[in-house]
Amino acid sequence: MSKKVIVIGSGFAGISCATYLAKYGYDVTVLEKNESAGGRCSSYTEKGYTFDMGPSWYWMPDVFEMYFGHFAKKPSDYYTLDRLDPSYRIFFDQNDQMDIPAKLTELSELFESLEKGSAKKLNEFLESAAYKYKKGMDEFVHKPSLSIAEFTDISLIPIALKLQLHTSVAAHVSSLFKNEKIKKILEFPVYFLGALPKDTPALYTLMNYADLALGTWYPQGGMYKIIEGMVDLAQELGVKFIFNEEVEHIDIDKNEAHTIRTKNHTYTCDIVVAGADYHHIEQKIIEKEYRQYDESYWDKRVMAPSSLIYYIGVNKKIKKLLHHNLFFDKSFEKFGDEIYTNPKWPEEPLFYVCCPSKSDNTVAPEGKENLFILIPVAPNLEDTDIQREHYYNQVMKRLEEHCGESIIEHVEYSKSFAHKDFMSRYHAYKGNAYGLANTLSQTAIFKPSIKNKKIKNLYFTGQLTVPGPGVPPSLISGEIVAQLIKKEIKP
Ligand SMILES: Cc1cc2nc3c(=O)[nH]c(=O)nc-3n(C[C@H](O)[C@H](O)[C@H](O)COP(=O)(O)OP(=O)(O)OC[C@H]3O[C@@H](n4cnc5c(N)ncnc54)[C@H](O)[C@@H]3O)c2cc1C
Repeated sequence: MSKKVIVIGSGFAGISCATYLAKYGYDVTVLEKNESAGGRCSSYTEKGYTFDMGPSWYWMPDVFEMYFGHFAKKPSDYYTLDRLDPSYRIFFDQNDQMDIPAKLTELSELFESLEKGSAKKLNEFLESAAYKYKKGMDEFVHKPSLSIAEFTDISLIPIALKLQLHTSVAAHVSSLFKNEKIKKILEFPVYFLGALPKDTPALYTLMNYADLALGTWYPQGGMYKIIEGMVDLAQELGVKFIFNEEVEHIDIDKNEAHTIRTKNHTYTCDIVVAGADYHHIEQKIIEKEYRQYDESYWDKRVMAPSSLIYYIGVNKKIKKLLHHNLFFDKSFEKFGDEIYTNPKWPEEPLFYVCCPSKSDNTVAPEGKENLFILIPVAPNLEDTDIQREHYYNQVMKRLEEHCGESIIEHVEYSKSFAHKDFMSRYHAYKGNAYGLANTLSQTAIFKPSIKNKKIKNLYFTGQLTVPGPGVPPSLISGEIVAQLIKKEIKP
């Protein structure tokens, strides 16, 4: 008889972990509170529009290839990927927009046109970012980060120095470039990672390598196609999924979890993997004596932003939009301050518009546009209908001005999603969208551990533990935990 594993939650990390464990020979069941798989990467269809509810940027295609490759599959066995070119459009001011080309030669020309000598520096910057990406992936990202000993191998010291853990992204970028637009292009991925460029180790310029060199891709049909592919693969390997099955309690005896209780059922188990939000499992699902962290620990964590999102259907085409559009028309510094330093509702937020109907005619009715508008905002803010309406009006007006055409009167469907929804749909601590911020003091061994030290068969996976937030790290998180389980408890 194989050991029985219960995985709580069917986000990327939970499905990834379940799939590896099934391959290793465990008997795996995934319990998911919502009606379908995907977690933050859910999807829904309304009035002919199909909305991805969370992630929209498909970066690091190599990680997806590696993931499916471990099961002798390819992403193309499950979905069709297209590389976007241009990768995205940035709106700086009205009538001042810039397209970021997919080809590096064109990108160099663009940089050179903005700042003399910057093409050469871009090359230098990307070489260093490529090194960080490759070494980071090979030597650091795949570690369980249970102990500092994993990182004390003498051969890693020169690598760690080159990874620039103690230099900030802002300092690194400013040392090479003076042009403000270039700085924004290079610093923006970090904002979405959850901290100010001045507080984020330059290690994370590996994200620029992912952005500018590896490219922005799109799975036809939407990001949810990845989830569908992963669920198919997991089921092929024998993983069972049970939906609308919210875990309410883990029964523990002699430091061992033995039963999972939901509203209507109990499940016996040999191993538990918590893929739901870490704080929720620790503070609500297990007894106090078994928690590794208390509320004050959690309260001191720096959370990545939450998001105020609008899913919108427009009954016409909008000429000026590309698939991905970033609106950097207001102060980065002020907005950063309002998210991270003095958290409050922002006066004039930067925002992002995804318009997948530009590359995919299945996500909106013919002649219409599918919009996903995201405003990064601080977690733990009071989320009211009045605030949501206020930002809808502000952002839609700015969108109309930038696009030079009426949009509001063409909206035939709209729905908002923010803190309250993150909490009720995903049990997200403080309504966070992307987990913990990627600061140095919250990296690797300083993150909440993948292993509960007081319960010998309880493990954690997902964006609140190693390696961190984002779809590719969540896939890797599932793999790291499955490997640790295989090492510690035989199937
Ligand atoms: C708006 C938004 C935009 C994003 N954009 C991008 C992007 O463009 N690119 C990118 O790479 N990343 C992006 N991210 C980040 C990425 O989506 C996440 O890091 C990743 O999906 C997290 O996966 P996870 O498995 O850790 O958690 P989740 O997806 O949250 O999965 C956890 C699951 O656990 C379930 N659960 C919770 N409590 C229980 C319970 N008691 N019982 C049973 N089940 C439970 C939840 O319902 C959920 O399904 C975005 C995230 C958001 C929110």
